[in-house]
Parts: sequence; C-alpha cells; structure tokens
Amino acid sequence: MVRPTLLALLLLPSVVAIAFVETPLSGSTTAQEPASSPNVDGAPPLSGKQGQILYLRVKVEDHTVSVLGTLLGRRIPFFDISEDEFAALVGIDMADVPGTVELMVEITSPEGTRQQSFAVAVAAEDFRDQRLTLPKDQVDPDAAALKRITREREKIQSVFGSPTPERLWKEPFVVPVDGVVTGAIGSRRILNGQPRNQHNGEDIAAPLGTPLKATNNGLVRMVDDHFFSGRSVILDHGLGLYTVYSHLQTVKVKEGDRIERGQIIGTVGKSGRATGPHLHWGAWLNGSRVNPFSLMKLPIESP
Ligand SMILES: [Zn+2]
Repeated sequence: MVRPTLLALLLLPSVVAIAFVETPLSGSTTAQEPASSPNVDGAPPLSGKQGQILYLRVKVEDHTVSVLGTLLGRRIPFFDISEDEFAALVGIDMADVPGTVELMVEITSPEGTRQQSFAVAVAAEDFRDQRLTLPKDQVDPDAAALKRITREREKIQSVFGSPTPERLWKEPFVVPVDGVVTGAIGSRRILNGQPRNQHNGEDIAAPLGTPLKATNNGLVRMVDDHFFSGRSVILDHGLGLYTVYSHLQTVKVKEGDRIERGQIIGTVGKSGRATGPHLHWGAWLNGSRVNPFSLMKLPIESP
C-alpha cells in the first residue's frame, strides 16, 4: 500500500485552510493505514483554528462512488469535483480542544473500500469576552420560558439531524448583509455578570428593515420565532451545511422553499434577545459550529 502524498498544503489567513491530498491510485481492495502515521513523512498535518473550515481535496481512482470522512465522531461527506477528485468542507467546532486529531476517510469504489487517515492539528482561537447587560427575564428565563427554549432547541437539532443528502450550492457564498460585525463566534458571553455559553455565530449590525440575502442556494428548513433568536430562518445547503439567520424583523420565505443564492429571505430586526437591530448569522457544518465568514474564502470548484 502506497502512503498518501501531500501535494500541497496552503494555509490562508484567519478563516479557511485548504489542503490538497493525493491518495493512492492503485486499484486495490480494502486497506487501512495505521492511525499513528497519518501524513507523509515530514509533511505538516492539516491544520486550522477553532471555528474554521478546512477545504480538503482528495485524489481518487476512477469509478470511486463515495468518500466519507469522520472527525471526532462527526460524519464528513465528500462530493466529487472532477473525474478523479473528491472534496469536503471539514468543520472545526469552535469548542474543539486544541491538539492533533484524526480524520479518517473511507473511499469506496466497485473494487472495495479502503481507509485513509490524516492528522488534523486544531489550533486555539483567541476568543474575546463580551459583557452585555440585558433584561433579567432574558438572562434567567422562568420555568415556562425554559420549557419553550428546550422545545426550540430540539426542533433545531432535528433539522440539523436530517441534512439534504446532496450539495445544493455550486457558486461562491455571499455575505447576507453589509454592516458592522459586533459579535464574533466563540466569544464568551458574560450576561449581567454571569458567564454563559460561547456565542455560536457572527453578529452583523445593520439598520432595521435592511434586506437579507441567502448566502447560497438551499432549502428553507425552518421558519420560527424563538425565545433567544427571535424570528429565524434555517437554510439547508446540503451535505450537512446549514446557515442560520436570527433576530429578523420580517421573513419572506416559508419552510420547504427552494432558495437561490442572493435571494432576499427577510429583513434585519431585533426580535428575540437582542440589544439592537442586527443579524445573528450562524453556520453549522456536520455537527460543528463554524464561522460563517469562512464560507467566503472557499475555493469553490464547479463540477
Ligand atoms: Zn448573535
């Protein structure tokens, strides 16, 4: 079994890392690389910071039918970008522990399935603390509100748990609204002096009523009004990628709608728990909470 060749490893600043990995082209049957030697000798591991997206290209033999990765128990579906290449968006969750983890890739062709292991170095992001003062009932919800919050969380999890099995986008991603980024993913929230969860999206401040664009083609999987997020839309872009738009003033789409990249899906508001008009923009990628601005930096290939 030939070991993989890391042809190039290119790290772009801040939000995306790209790697091109050539895997063996021998038309062989099932084989497995030892997890302890994931990359070629001397080559650096794939690497990215908490909340980033890695773009991974893998060279495959003819007639490969599927490529599926697993990272920290998260399923990473690959898509074909040419006759002999598959690619995947690999999310590093904002709370993944820094260190080296294993990305196992399973390549299936009519001849069989083989596995290939790669090391991924997860680097710490420098998250800020964000102190906010909010009405007490928004920071310490009462029993009825807690019940509602649990229900809403379950609904979101069920949407994230049933991704469209094909990639719905082809072209580059667009930022939904121009504005000032006022809250960053991963920042530790201190609400009324109490530490809370890390912020799971980017906040973009813009005037009330500013139209919001869909970042790319997708399917509207949720339109709802939630305790914390207010009026919200979840778009499913396929293969486990979702984008979330919250605190809207108005929503222009409904569940089940097919959305084109750039289509207006609603307007900026301050519904739910918000100190002023802004878009809370989140991205969920196969179980990882990632920075949606990472999507802007992807080297999108058309098939
Ligand atoms: Zn937010």
